[in-house]
Amino acid sequence: MIHSLTRLITSAFYPALQGICLFCRQPTRQPLLCHYCAEELPLLDHHCRLCGTPIAGAQTICGHCLLQPPEWDYLHILADYQFPLIGLIHKLKYQHNVLPAVLFGQMLAELYPHDEPKPEAILPVPLHWRRQWLRGYNQAQELARPISKQLSIPCNNRLLRRIRATKVQAGLSKLSRHSNLKNAFAVGEHNYRHVAILDDVVTTGSTVTTLVKLLKKSGCERVDVWAICRTQLHG
Ligand SMILES: [Zn+2]
Ligand SMILES: [Zn+2]
Repeated sequence: MIHSLTRLITSAFYPALQGICLFCRQPTRQPLLCHYCAEELPLLDHHCRLCGTPIAGAQTICGHCLLQPPEWDYLHILADYQFPLIGLIHKLKYQHNVLPAVLFGQMLAELYPHDEPKPEAILPVPLHWRRQWLRGYNQAQELARPISKQLSIPCNNRLLRRIRATKVQAGLSKLSRHSNLKNAFAVGEHNYRHVAILDDVVTTGSTVTTLVKLLKKSGCERVDVWAICRTQLHG
């Protein structure tokens, strides 16, 4: 499985960086990810399909999620939020570098389990227009591009709208996270039954939980959450 990651191809879009590994900056025959780093990446092993916690044996859902299942139906992530992924995610979010989105997007597409049904649409978590304007792009939309192409799933950038600017969720208490997100988003008209919300990192899970609830209220039967990493879902 990990070997397949080294097949990632993006040279058509970014010819200047062809053959440089984003992690170790060493020249490589494959674009964006060298064989060595592909082997060393701390990708998740067998894990809970709802929260990503490693589990043993034939189980697919961890004890915590059996007792308190999240609102979403499936979580697709690559890894825990840890070295060396943190550095690239930081570049993507704060240093105007969208190349990590190309790599992570391709990895999410390659590692999507063959036995899971494909969502009808990918819905990147929207940024408030002001934040997007300042950054110049929405990292979740950049992440969606290669996924959409590789898995032939349309990306819908307009269905989810952020109608109010919110504070950064990390560091807020559970209560203030909730009021911070209240009425922050709106869902447009649609006929989807199964969609996937795409975010860069799932931290507390409260942003995606808010969106999953809205989507289910608007008629979706299954809502998945896709992200590069997750941090502390049971925190
Ligand atoms: Zn490397
Ligand atoms: Zn779980």
